Amino acid sequence: MADKHSNQTPEMPTSSDHSPLPCPFTKSYPSELNKDDYYYMQLALNEAIEGWKEDEVPIGAIIVIDGKIVAKAHNRRDSLKDPTAHAEMIAITQAASAISDWRLNAATLYVTKEPCPMCAGASIMSRLGRVVFALEDNKMGCLGGATDLNILGGSNHRCEISAGIMREECLQIIQAYFQAKRGAQ
Ligand SMILES: [Zn+2]
Repeated sequence: MADKHSNQTPEMPTSSDHSPLPCPFTKSYPSELNKDDYYYMQLALNEAIEGWKEDEVPIGAIIVIDGKIVAKAHNRRDSLKDPTAHAEMIAITQAASAISDWRLNAATLYVTKEPCPMCAGASIMSRLGRVVFALEDNKMGCLGGATDLNILGGSNHRCEISAGIMREECLQIIQAYFQAKRGAQ
């Protein structure tokens, strides 16, 4: 086990040394009369707000099957100290558990930011029927932003993709979070 006080380990993580910055965003509860993509993305954004309150990069995800929410999660990488604890990964595990099946063909994933290589890969490997993301990610997004894992030649599954729903709102919360973090330093 590493000794935190050793001079030989100067780069120890410090993320747990501070309390969360107050989140200026409040959750919205859209009308249940119109359960469209906007409705579910709003709920994914609510999850992102939960993430901020736990001092996590605010990214949220919801998974829906036949109009029923089977998973809701936010990024928990820092609190779990787990690099795989992205919102989408947690939500995919929840959804598979909810239906006792790893195949999520009937499911739609709503996520506030375009999935990274890991989460885009997990979306394809779980055969997610549809992925809806708000904000594109030209650096790490792997469903069309930086690259597109969906067009791997050897894969026999492709997720239907919709992008851009509530893009501005989901961009704002991520930008505000990093601005607040910079201001706090
Ligand atoms: Zn990810």
